[in-house]
Amino acid sequence: MNIHEYQAKAVLKSFGVPVSKGVPVVKAEEAEAAARQLPGPLWVVKSQIHAGGRGKGKFKEAKAGDKGGVRLAKSVDEVKEFAEQMLGSTLVTIQTGPAGKQVNRLYIEDGSDISRELYLSALVDRTTSRVSFVASTEGGMDIEEVAHKTPEKLHTISVDPATGIMPHHGRALAEALDLQGDLAKSAAKLLGQLFTAFVSTDMEMLEINPLIVTKSGELRCLDAKVSFDNNALFRHPDIAELRDETEEDAKEIEASKYDLNYITLDGTIGCMVNGAGLAMATMDIIKLYGEAPANFLDVGGGATKEKVTAAFKIITADPNVKGILVNIFGGIMRCDVIAEGVIAAVKDVGLQVPLVVRLEGTNVELGKKIIRDSGLNVIPADDLDDAAQKVVAAVKAAKG
Ligand code: ADP
Ligand code: MG
Repeated sequence: MNIHEYQAKAVLKSFGVPVSKGVPVVKAEEAEAAARQLPGPLWVVKSQIHAGGRGKGKFKEAKAGDKGGVRLAKSVDEVKEFAEQMLGSTLVTIQTGPAGKQVNRLYIEDGSDISRELYLSALVDRTTSRVSFVASTEGGMDIEEVAHKTPEKLHTISVDPATGIMPHHGRALAEALDLQGDLAKSAAKLLGQLFTAFVSTDMEMLEINPLIVTKSGELRCLDAKVSFDNNALFRHPDIAELRDETEEDAKEIEASKYDLNYITLDGTIGCMVNGAGLAMATMDIIKLYGEAPANFLDVGGGATKEKVTAAFKIITADPNVKGILVNIFGGIMRCDVIAEGVIAAVKDVGLQVPLVVRLEGTNVELGKKIIRDSGLNVIPADDLDDAAQKVVAAVKAAKG
């Protein structure tokens, strides 16, 4: 689960991490009031969307100008002006895709006097089973380019979970960031705070870019991107509350309500399958015959008719879906339950695209009979190969 910058900063602050003062707002008038609470003389108006690259992003609307999604304001009036322009506008960054994301919230932050911009991130390294930090002196808005062109400027510091942060990690970080004296000590302290925050809230990823050295010689986190391990969210109800569903894929949210394992993909064939292994095989064979899956969907072992109906509706609601393949191996799952779920969904929302159904296993004859008797325009298939070819052919024919 991803959260906004202002939320990430609040989480980090609770672990003692140095961040700037700021106020999240959803209206331009609030932005003005927020700016008055901050000392000035510099303010920063920051778009809050679940995507990075905001500073170099561009708004689609002309009113928001082409100055990007993070703007420095020199007066309270300017804060208000920028807020009016940015709120409700659509920001396109390298991470949003061409459709961009609507900015519904801003973070009004105290402006910092920046002397240096550094980079520091942490992630769970699956090969070493440890938390690894990545540090670089080349922080700021071009870190992707640094990673690409001069990877030797990124330094990795891996932390053994049995020992946690040791003094040598702090020294390694100070060296990687080229910090001396008090700043080196601050870096070591920050590393400990970030590690504690990371582990105790079950973060998956933490990125501070930039971590700055201020003109007065302090370290401060000026940007924060955090994501949490969904499988551990049950342990952190306070963090689960930070979820902003408007930033997430609506289909995935709907699917999670029904406990369906659903992921949106960018192909044309909607898949309804039981079991992750069969779902992967189904996606593979669709690719083999020249089309791509529009989603991964595992309805699970003991799905009810309601769950199947919900799953089918999620698939049909996706405008990218040009054909549907239902591929069920009835073990614990019964083929008649699948058939009833599909029919209930079609009765509710109709069926605009070709539907290929391949059923096998428990109650298969009953399942097939239910579909035959329903009068639905279903293309039946006998095995997976046959099913994949039929749905690909139907989609290709519809495309013309
Ligand atoms: P993004 O990474 O999405 O572009 P950042 O929060 O990193 O957004 O902001 C982009 C740039 O804006 C930073 O690299 C920094 O130079 C500047 N900036 C961000 N916040 C502040 C602040 N509080 N004071 C001064 N400059 C800031
Ligand atoms: Mg940044």
